[in-house]
Amino acid sequence: MEKEHVRDALQRIVGKENVLWKDVDLAVYSYDAGLVKGKAGLVVFVDNSDQVAQIVSFLCKEGISYVARGSGTNLTGGTVPLNEGVVIEFSRMNRILEIDIENERVVVEPGIYNLTVQNALAEKGYYYAPDPASQKASSMGGNLGENAGGPHCLKYGVTSNHVLGAEVVLPSGEKTWIGGKALDAPGPDLMGLLVGSEGTLGIVTKIVCRIMRSPERVLTMLAIYSSVEAAGQTVSDIIAEGIIPATLEIMDNVVIRAVEASVHAGYPLDAEAVLLIELDGLTDGMDEQMKRITEICEKNGVVSHRIAKDANERNILWAGRRGAFGAVARIRPAYLVCDGTVPRTQLPKALTEVKKISEKYRVPIGNVFHAGDGNLHPLILFDDRDADELERVHKAGREILKACADLGGTISGEHGIGTEKLNEMFLVFKGDDIRMMSAIKQAVDRKGLCNPGKVIPAQEARP
Ligand SMILES: Cc1cc2nc3c(=O)[nH]c(=O)nc-3n(C[C@H](O)[C@H](O)[C@H](O)COP(=O)(O)OP(=O)(O)OC[C@H]3O[C@@H](n4cnc5c(N)ncnc54)[C@H](O)[C@@H]3O)c2cc1C
Repeated sequence: MEKEHVRDALQRIVGKENVLWKDVDLAVYSYDAGLVKGKAGLVVFVDNSDQVAQIVSFLCKEGISYVARGSGTNLTGGTVPLNEGVVIEFSRMNRILEIDIENERVVVEPGIYNLTVQNALAEKGYYYAPDPASQKASSMGGNLGENAGGPHCLKYGVTSNHVLGAEVVLPSGEKTWIGGKALDAPGPDLMGLLVGSEGTLGIVTKIVCRIMRSPERVLTMLAIYSSVEAAGQTVSDIIAEGIIPATLEIMDNVVIRAVEASVHAGYPLDAEAVLLIELDGLTDGMDEQMKRITEICEKNGVVSHRIAKDANERNILWAGRRGAFGAVARIRPAYLVCDGTVPRTQLPKALTEVKKISEKYRVPIGNVFHAGDGNLHPLILFDDRDADELERVHKAGREILKACADLGGTISGEHGIGTEKLNEMFLVFKGDDIRMMSAIKQAVDRKGLCNPGKVIPAQEARP
């Protein structure tokens, strides 16, 4: 692209100070929390949807690609600009537009952090269910783009179950609404198509979400195990009993040690696994449910267990889980997280495979997972300055995803595909599925400029 011409045009739309064009600034927007690196052509900070529509319209005419960026915490290269595209940066579109308590809806701009929304709702006795561990930093637009999940999604469902409508700037530059405050819009489920499409079908400028009343009571238990398998079996047994806790999260010894060195959550260093079990809802019947859960833990050989006495203790237990990804930096400077999912009953087999792969490629792997959903997060730990180790890490990551697919699972529970897992799409989709995805993309984004090269692999790339 002719940089000066494009820069001047974008500056006319958003103001001079809101376009970055120097190499040193662009470098910061050329990567995200994944391992892939690209090169941003320009970065433009937007303030409202009219600006976004004008920018997209201009880029469409000029044939220049672009990518929406929330906080860049996605782990698969989803916001990495390819072909020196323009990065449309949303951190300044971060307002709560409406909290509609009567209809239990919140309307937000996409750049707002998930946790900021949660805090505003908590003051009114409400909450928004999807709670990614990255909620302090990740944006609602990015959550929508990735169909984010979180510990509480076991009971309440992921982002797609809670986003009801969105204002969208289509790749033509046209501004439109999909869905809204009402439930069940007639016709094909366009919201379903948009959520999880990783910014490849349009750019979201307003989001309408369902909110729920904060639970009357919450009980959080920390259960300690001498094997990951016993913790996993406890999870299966609790659900088989017909109890669906709000969360069932497991961390193994590698992660426990890192977390303790970092946030001091009170997990014993010699435990092979900790299981965080949280019940929420009505007070009536909750003690009986926790009693039954305790019996199940004991049947599976729990070493010890305790219930958080108050909100402060509960927050400390959760700080450990939420800080797990960051904490592993104490072991090795970088990590690759494999977001494979398996049917819950296959968790023990999947973990055995992960262990074998760790030994085969000589890379340490820590495990932290949304056990209730069968969503594994093996964290492959490495030093990205070591090219040989990096190659082994990629091979190990691919093999873990293949093992998940072979066990009847899939290659992403919540972190999306981006560029990093394009080839792995062939593990779970046949040619027809991929052709259908390409046809939809082509119909919506005729020029292929809206976050190109993400999610949908080229048919020719099929191994
Ligand atoms: C420490 C850590 C913990 C994490 N824990 C979790 C977890 O528990 N659960 C989970 O699901 N994920 C988790 N993630 C991954 C990540 O935080 C989520 O994918 C999150 O939803 C990304 O939000 P973001 O604002 O950073 O989006 P970005 O990374 O900026 O963008 C993600 C995708 O959404 C698109 N996008 C962004 N804004 C818009 C918009 N306005 N319109 C259209 N498309 C848009 C982008 O183009 C990109 O494809 C974790 C990541 C880290 C680093």
